[in-house]
This record gives sequence, C-alpha cells and structure tokens, in this order.
Amino acid sequence: MRWGINNKFINSMTQKPLIIANWKCNPTSQKEAEHLFVAVEKEIRNIKDVEVVICPPFVWLSLPGGSARDGFAFGSQDCHWENKGAYTGEVSPAMLKDLGCQYVILGHSERRKYFQEDDQVINRKIKVALKNNLRPILCIGEENRDTFDSEGRPLNEMSLVVGQQLENDLVDIPEARIREITIAYEPIWAIGSGNPCSPNEAMKASLFIRKTLAKLYDRPKAEKVKILYGGSVTSQNAADYINQAAMDGLLVGGASLNASEFIKIVEKASQ
Ligand code: PEP
Repeated sequence: MRWGINNKFINSMTQKPLIIANWKCNPTSQKEAEHLFVAVEKEIRNIKDVEVVICPPFVWLSLPGGSARDGFAFGSQDCHWENKGAYTGEVSPAMLKDLGCQYVILGHSERRKYFQEDDQVINRKIKVALKNNLRPILCIGEENRDTFDSEGRPLNEMSLVVGQQLENDLVDIPEARIREITIAYEPIWAIGSGNPCSPNEAMKASLFIRKTLAKLYDRPKAEKVKILYGGSVTSQNAADYINQAAMDGLLVGGASLNASEFIKIVEKASQ
C-alpha cells in the first residue's frame, strides 16, 4: 500500500468502501424498524462491492431475524465497559456478540456530550469490545470548524482535538489489534447541521489521522486502519468523500433513516 494520485491511499481503492448507518434513537416502533430493515435489505443485497453495517437502537437488534439479514452486518451504537454484573440499564459487548453483532460505535460525540463519556471510558469500552471480537468504530472530531486568530494564524482545532482523542482513546491498545478498529472522523459542527465538511477538509483530517496512527504504531499498521467520514452525508456528496478525499467509507446518521436515500448513498459508494 502507498500514497496515490491526490494523496489517495491505494489501500482505499482496493478494499470495499464501508458504509455505516447510525439510526441513533430512531425509529420509535418495532413496525417502523422492521419496515426500514426490509426496505434497505431488498436493494442492498444486490450491491456486493460495498460493506454495509446497520446500527439500530439496542432493542431493534433483537427483532426476530435481526442478525440474519442478507447484505448487511449489524452494529450497536454503544456498549458497556464490562461484560456483566451489577450495572443497571447497561448492555454488554458479550450480549451484543451473542446477538450476532459484529461492530460497535464508540465515542460518538452525542455520547461524549449528553452522557459525559470521556476518553478514559471510551478506551475501556474499546478494550472490552475487542476482547469480545466486536469491531469498534471510534468516532472523533472537533467541535468548531477551523478558524483563524486575530493575526490570521490558523487555530488548528481539528488537529489538536483529533490528535488528543486518538492518543487517549487508544491507550494500551496493542498494535496487533489496531487494524480491527475503524476511525470515523466526524466533525461535530457537521453532524446533523446540513453543513458538511468539504472533501478537502476531510482529506486533511484523514491524512492527519493516518499520520498520528503511524506515530502511535507504525506506518504499515496505520495504513491498514479504515478511516470514515461522517457529518451531513447525503446521496449528493457521498461520492466526493470516497473519490476526492482519502476516505474508506462513510458514517451516515439522518440520511440512513430514509431507505431510498441510504440506498443511493451505498450505490454512490459502489461506483
Ligand atoms: C452521526 O451522528 O454520526 C452523523 C453522521 O449524523 P448526520 O449524518 O445526521 O450528520
């Protein structure tokens, strides 16, 4: 693997793009969830060159036939940092694995913001997820779009925040397991705002993430880690992140609740 034209990793040209649907706390009924699963499955099963992962709320993971869908894998949106015990309300990685989940989103900015999850907690969750052979999708990203100080110098919030999150969230993660972790670059200012990151900004972040991983591990290990973009992805902009930025896939929030829009995004990723 090596850098290609426009700094694009050859790696990302040869492996299947990874598209993750984060349903967040939606939909509110079993009937709607089932309807959405079926509508997505019907089209996605025919698209073989994209890897699709659906991350519904915990309760919809256990719908009859839940983990046996055709064409996509399942992930959860969070997990506990222990496998079992007196932790009222928690869902453990062992339980998720037993249900047939393969992935788990960890460190999403909404978990960091509304549930006070810090890097230490996220690091514990990554470790226990790996112990259970769940593949963590680690979300990182800055709160404000990069700006300039009064003298025109860039404030570099992206690199400061993203660098710190990577260092802290990956403490003691052995190098033999790092390729099992996917990094989702999700600038908070772009999430749900309809104000997506430009492919140029996304590429800058992707290069920075790759460089930081190479420092924490080594370059060959860093090259094996998938990096996704997330934040106001639609069928209109999806292809830009795959083709113009050095992204290995996408994490899709709002648009994943609309089956036809989500299918279009997957189709764009496959072209
Ligand atoms: C997200 O919350 O992970 C996300 C990417 O949301 P949206 O696509 O709605 O911006």
